[in-house]
Amino acid sequence: MTQEPATLPATSAPAERVAAVLRRAVATGLLSEDRPVAGFLDTEGIRASVASLDAAFAEAPDVLHTFAVKACSLVPVLRLLAALGMGCEVASPGELRIALDAGVEPARIVLDSPAKTRQEIGEALALGVAVNADSLDELRRIDELRPAHSASVVGLRVNPQVGGGSIGAMSTATATSKFGVALRDPGARERVVRAFAERPWLTRLHAHVGSQGCPLELIAEGVAETYRLAEEINRAQGARQITSLDIGGGLPVNFGGDETRPTFAAYTLALRAAVPDLFDGRYALVTEFGRSLLAKNGFIGARVEYTKEAGGRRIAVTHAGAQTATRTVLMPEAWPLRVGLFDAGGNPRTGAPVSQDIAGPCCFAGDVVAHAQDLPEATEGDLVVLHDTGAYYFSTHWAYNSLPRPAVHGFTSGRSGGVRLTTVRAHQSLDEISAESGLAHADALVSPEPAAGT
Ligand SMILES: *Cc1c(COP(=O)(O)O)cnc(C)c1O
Repeated sequence: MTQEPATLPATSAPAERVAAVLRRAVATGLLSEDRPVAGFLDTEGIRASVASLDAAFAEAPDVLHTFAVKACSLVPVLRLLAALGMGCEVASPGELRIALDAGVEPARIVLDSPAKTRQEIGEALALGVAVNADSLDELRRIDELRPAHSASVVGLRVNPQVGGGSIGAMSTATATSKFGVALRDPGARERVVRAFAERPWLTRLHAHVGSQGCPLELIAEGVAETYRLAEEINRAQGARQITSLDIGGGLPVNFGGDETRPTFAAYTLALRAAVPDLFDGRYALVTEFGRSLLAKNGFIGARVEYTKEAGGRRIAVTHAGAQTATRTVLMPEAWPLRVGLFDAGGNPRTGAPVSQDIAGPCCFAGDVVAHAQDLPEATEGDLVVLHDTGAYYFSTHWAYNSLPRPAVHGFTSGRSGGVRLTTVRAHQSLDEISAESGLAHADALVSPEPAAGT
């Protein structure tokens, strides 16, 4: 087999980088009949994204950037981000565990779940993990559970109710959002001020306003509202009780092209316009970015298994569907993805564009990741690429049809300019799928064991 060398010049166009990675993945069997779908993460791209985040906030004297673990809950990713100086934002015992397993120091972890149990709160406070209470009721639990000398920073999440963006399910600061204390509800602001007055150890305000579909100005307005509340509380206390602001994440991502837009720099510009004093150092800052750090640093590669035609529409049946691109399949208008087409060797396919649906392997009719794509005609063995899938797509697998979680590989340019691939997460095996499907209890329903406790 003749094969172009898989080179990966750091300065090459994104499409060339993708092709070089695919060629390497095909040559090494990481994309094959056996392994028909896999995720790929751009290690250098992640480093560059963190560097641009750091640069955008360079003016802030005291800032902790945490990574929202749900966006890419992979231990090697968290360890890389920790090596680059980042902490973690976690929202479940599982996310806390993998952050700790990745080696992230408890003091650099923020726990944000809206449904924390007493046990989770107690463990976080014992470890010294920062906790943002989601409600005044949760604060009352913390009153009971907080050890006398807890190292944890404790904050309160507020919902500035500045409104939503274009995707309802992604809008956290609407009037009726389930998150935080709804600040504009009658009496709420006074109750929050009192909650701080009663708890000298409550030193942080938290808001996470935006997400995909939210304009920067809306996110900045939510931060401004939170800042004004902090100033009000500190004035009422006659002391600087609130010492830090956790301003959340939620920067949207441009899924329509290669360009990174908006940039972190554009965001800090919007923040400065809304809150001119935000970076003057009186408040330490915490951020919680997820999608904007990882989305453009990853893609999914999947083999075309068959092509067919139905009702005059061409369809490429691939191995990337709702199991790995769940949101895109279920909400195609809100989460469209760019699709690329490559030949079986990983070289970009050329040819006259033909309108095609890119379907997945799941057994339901709606399992289509992209409708009516104008691409060169796909044939069996080709590879489709779903671009910008580095955030959420690898961590939010759906076990539909008992399809395996695909492997995730990191890529870098090797010394000679070639591509180096390294396994971040292995492909889920059939043994693992069976074990997760109750294999250990196979007889439970035909010859039931006595119920526990009897
Ligand atoms: C999901 C989430 C984030 C990260 O959101 P992105 O849109 O991925 O940046 C940050 N903070 C909280 C509380 C979240 O729930």
